[in-house]
Amino acid sequence: MKLQLRFPPHLHGVPNTAEVILETGARMNIERAYVDAVRGELIIDVPREKVDRVVELFKQKGVEVRRLVKLIAWDEDKCIHCGACISVCPSHVFKFDHTWRLNLDEEKCIKCDVCVRACPVGALASVSNQS
Ligand code: SF4
Ligand code: SF4
Repeated sequence: MKLQLRFPPHLHGVPNTAEVILETGARMNIERAYVDAVRGELIIDVPREKVDRVVELFKQKGVEVRRLVKLIAWDEDKCIHCGACISVCPSHVFKFDHTWRLNLDEEKCIKCDVCVRACPVGALASVSNQS
Protein backbone atom coordinates (compact mmCIF):
# COMPACT_ATOMS: atom_id res chain seq x y z
CA MET A 1 0.00 0.00 0.00
CA LYS A 2 1.15 3.51 -0.76
CA LEU A 3 1.59 6.06 2.00
CA GLN A 4 2.16 9.78 1.78
CA LEU A 5 4.50 11.06 4.50
CA ARG A 6 4.82 14.73 5.35
CA PHE A 7 7.74 15.72 7.55
CA PRO A 8 7.37 19.01 9.45
CA PRO A 9 10.37 21.38 9.59
CA HIS A 10 11.48 20.37 13.09
CA LEU A 11 12.08 16.81 11.84
CA HIS A 12 14.55 17.85 9.14
CA GLY A 13 17.78 15.94 9.53
CA VAL A 14 16.17 13.28 11.73
CA PRO A 15 16.51 9.81 10.11
CA ASN A 16 12.89 8.82 10.80
CA THR A 17 12.45 6.70 7.69
CA ALA A 18 15.61 4.71 8.37
CA GLU A 19 14.51 4.17 11.97
CA VAL A 20 11.08 2.89 10.91
CA ILE A 21 12.67 0.51 8.42
CA LEU A 22 15.00 -0.84 11.10
CA GLU A 23 12.25 -1.10 13.72
CA THR A 24 9.72 -2.85 11.46
CA GLY A 25 11.91 -4.71 8.98
CA ALA A 26 9.56 -3.40 6.28
CA ARG A 27 10.99 -3.35 2.76
CA MET A 28 9.72 0.06 1.69
CA ASN A 29 10.03 1.41 -1.79
CA ILE A 30 10.42 5.20 -2.02
CA GLU A 31 8.45 6.13 -5.15
CA ARG A 32 8.53 9.89 -4.93
CA ALA A 33 10.46 12.36 -2.79
CA TYR A 34 10.31 16.10 -2.37
CA VAL A 35 12.46 17.99 0.10
CA ASP A 36 13.14 21.70 0.46
CA ALA A 37 14.16 24.03 3.29
CA VAL A 38 10.79 23.94 5.04
CA ARG A 39 9.20 20.56 4.35
CA GLY A 40 9.73 17.05 3.17
CA GLU A 41 7.28 14.71 1.49
CA LEU A 42 7.64 11.08 0.48
CA ILE A 43 5.36 8.60 -1.23
CA ILE A 44 6.36 5.11 -0.18
CA ASP A 45 5.06 1.66 -1.01
CA VAL A 46 4.86 -0.63 2.02
CA PRO A 47 3.99 -4.34 2.15
CA ARG A 48 0.38 -4.68 3.34
CA GLU A 49 1.27 -6.90 6.27
CA LYS A 50 3.55 -4.18 7.69
CA VAL A 51 1.54 -1.09 6.90
CA ASP A 52 -0.32 -0.69 10.22
CA ARG A 53 2.89 -0.84 12.26
CA VAL A 54 4.71 1.50 9.85
CA VAL A 55 1.88 4.06 10.06
CA GLU A 56 1.85 3.83 13.85
CA LEU A 57 5.60 4.40 14.16
CA PHE A 58 5.72 7.35 11.75
CA LYS A 59 2.85 9.00 13.62
CA GLN A 60 4.63 8.46 16.94
CA LYS A 61 7.62 10.32 15.48
CA GLY A 62 5.45 13.30 14.50
CA VAL A 63 5.21 12.54 10.80
CA GLU A 64 1.87 13.20 9.06
CA VAL A 65 0.76 9.98 7.33
CA ARG A 66 -1.97 9.39 4.76
CA ARG A 67 -2.90 6.08 3.22
CA LEU A 68 -3.27 6.66 -0.51
CA VAL A 69 -6.05 4.55 -1.94
CA LYS A 70 -6.43 5.98 -5.42
CA LEU A 71 -4.13 8.49 -7.08
CA ILE A 72 -5.43 8.84 -10.61
CA ALA A 73 -8.96 9.15 -11.98
CA TRP A 74 -9.80 8.12 -15.53
CA ASP A 75 -12.93 9.34 -17.29
CA GLU A 76 -13.57 6.49 -19.69
CA ASP A 77 -16.30 8.41 -21.50
CA LYS A 78 -13.86 11.19 -22.45
CA CYS A 79 -10.98 8.85 -23.38
CA ILE A 80 -10.23 8.51 -27.09
CA HIS A 81 -7.71 5.68 -26.50
CA CYS A 82 -4.89 7.61 -28.14
CA GLY A 83 -2.16 6.03 -26.01
CA ALA A 84 -0.42 9.27 -25.03
CA CYS A 85 -0.62 8.32 -21.35
CA ILE A 86 1.00 4.95 -22.06
CA SER A 87 4.00 6.69 -23.59
CA VAL A 88 4.62 9.12 -20.75
CA CYS A 89 3.77 7.17 -17.60
CA PRO A 90 6.98 6.21 -15.77
CA SER A 91 5.22 3.49 -13.76
CA HIS A 92 3.53 1.56 -16.57
CA VAL A 93 0.05 2.18 -15.16
CA PHE A 94 -1.60 2.14 -18.61
CA LYS A 95 -1.77 -0.46 -21.33
CA PHE A 96 -4.04 -1.41 -24.20
CA ASP A 97 -6.04 -4.61 -24.00
CA HIS A 98 -6.45 -6.92 -26.97
CA THR A 99 -9.18 -4.64 -28.39
CA TRP A 100 -6.93 -1.55 -28.14
CA ARG A 101 -8.88 -0.12 -25.26
CA LEU A 102 -7.08 1.45 -22.34
CA ASN A 103 -6.60 -0.48 -19.09
CA LEU A 104 -5.23 0.90 -15.82
CA ASP A 105 -3.23 -0.74 -13.05
CA GLU A 106 -3.83 2.03 -10.54
CA GLU A 107 -1.79 0.46 -7.75
CA LYS A 108 1.39 1.31 -9.68
CA CYS A 109 0.68 5.06 -9.80
CA ILE A 110 3.17 7.37 -8.06
CA LYS A 111 1.10 10.53 -8.56
CA CYS A 112 3.59 12.31 -10.79
CA ASP A 113 0.76 13.93 -12.83
CA VAL A 114 2.65 13.59 -16.14
CA CYS A 115 -0.29 11.76 -17.73
CA VAL A 116 -2.74 14.42 -16.56
CA ARG A 117 -0.79 17.03 -18.53
CA ALA A 118 -0.31 14.73 -21.53
CA CYS A 119 -3.92 13.66 -22.08
CA PRO A 120 -5.29 15.68 -25.02
CA VAL A 121 -8.93 15.46 -23.90
CA GLY A 122 -8.69 15.90 -20.13
CA ALA A 123 -9.68 12.32 -19.36
CA LEU A 124 -7.19 11.97 -16.50
CA ALA A 125 -7.18 13.78 -13.17
CA SER A 126 -5.09 13.60 -10.06
CA VAL A 127 -7.02 12.61 -6.96
CA SER A 128 -6.17 12.87 -3.29
CA ASN A 129 -8.38 10.01 -2.14
CA GLN A 130 -7.08 8.62 1.11
CA SER A 131 -8.08 6.68 4.21
S1 SF4 B 1 -3.98 10.14 -23.01
FE1 SF4 B 1 -6.12 10.47 -22.39
S2 SF4 B 1 -7.33 10.08 -24.25
FE2 SF4 B 1 -5.30 9.21 -24.61
S3 SF4 B 1 -5.49 7.05 -23.97
FE3 SF4 B 1 -4.74 8.18 -22.19
S4 SF4 B 1 -6.59 8.74 -21.04
FE4 SF4 B 1 -7.25 8.15 -23.10
S1 SF4 C 1 0.20 10.20 -12.34
FE1 SF4 C 1 2.23 9.52 -13.15
S2 SF4 C 1 2.47 7.44 -12.38
FE2 SF4 C 1 0.31 7.96 -12.12
S3 SF4 C 1 -0.69 7.17 -13.92
FE3 SF4 C 1 -0.15 9.32 -14.37
S4 SF4 C 1 1.88 9.26 -15.35
FE4 SF4 C 1 1.52 7.26 -14.40
